[in-house]
Amino acid sequence: MSVHIPINNIIPFSLVDGPGSRCSIFVQGCNIHCAYCHNPETQRLCVGCGACVRACPAGALKMVCGAVEWDQGACVKCDTCIHVCPNHSSPRILYLDAEQVFERVKSYMPFIRGVTCSGGECMLYPEFLSELFGLCRGVGLGCLIDSNGTVDFAEHQDLLALSDGVMLDLKCWDDSWFVSLTGTDGKTVRKNLAFLAEQDKLAELRVIVTVDRNDPEAAVRGAAGVLGERVASTRLRLMRFRHFGVRGEMEGAPSPTDERMDAMEELARSLGFGTVVVS
Ligand code: SF4
Ligand code: SF4
Repeated sequence: MSVHIPINNIIPFSLVDGPGSRCSIFVQGCNIHCAYCHNPETQRLCVGCGACVRACPAGALKMVCGAVEWDQGACVKCDTCIHVCPNHSSPRILYLDAEQVFERVKSYMPFIRGVTCSGGECMLYPEFLSELFGLCRGVGLGCLIDSNGTVDFAEHQDLLALSDGVMLDLKCWDDSWFVSLTGTDGKTVRKNLAFLAEQDKLAELRVIVTVDRNDPEAAVRGAAGVLGERVASTRLRLMRFRHFGVRGEMEGAPSPTDERMDAMEELARSLGFGTVVVS
């Protein structure tokens, strides 16, 4: 039987989630809690506290048997529910299986080149991904995984075989930075970096550049060391931290300057990265 998973959002056409126009699927739920997360409402599953139901100005939410029910038709997308939620969650979730998501994906063809699954952390739902990717590949669509890298890809080789690759976040390099930024160490992320590169499944490596929160220079140097000769065929995206959507300790944190981003790009090129994209 197909597994139904919590889906936070499906964006029909995105140009920033991999090559070409893609349908982006955002799952709900994450296994880490990054201080710089720009969509923190995707981190946790709803615990049914009811705060959003009381705050909704459109009457689009109600409690049914201890769970929130969302009336999509009545919702005016004001985001009040997200702002009042004390749990980094959202009541605007649909539980869908792979067939149901695929029906939506199909309706966006022929205007998309593929799908990208993101989150939250989509690798928390590998069975769903395998089923969805199997369906998508059957109609000629490409399939990418956007992941924080904390789930061991070596244990999901069948899923990897169905995927064109992984856009892997490398949030830091040293464990002290990882723990302070995400709440967990980076052992599995570093292992995945080496494994995905070996398997030729590293579609893109992503490093967010912050001011004093993650030492991105060390991340880029560390990655280059692990990649060895493969660095020349690796696409690296350097992403400037922006505070939009961020809640908590980094809500008002500054973005790095243009000079810092230029220096990061220069460092990455000097280490031999084949493609360096700054965004
Ligand atoms: S976004 Fe949330 S609070 Fe606003 S109308 Fe929709 S369900 Fe209600
Ligand atoms: S979405 Fe958040 S505020 Fe609404 S019931 Fe769930 S935990 Fe409470």
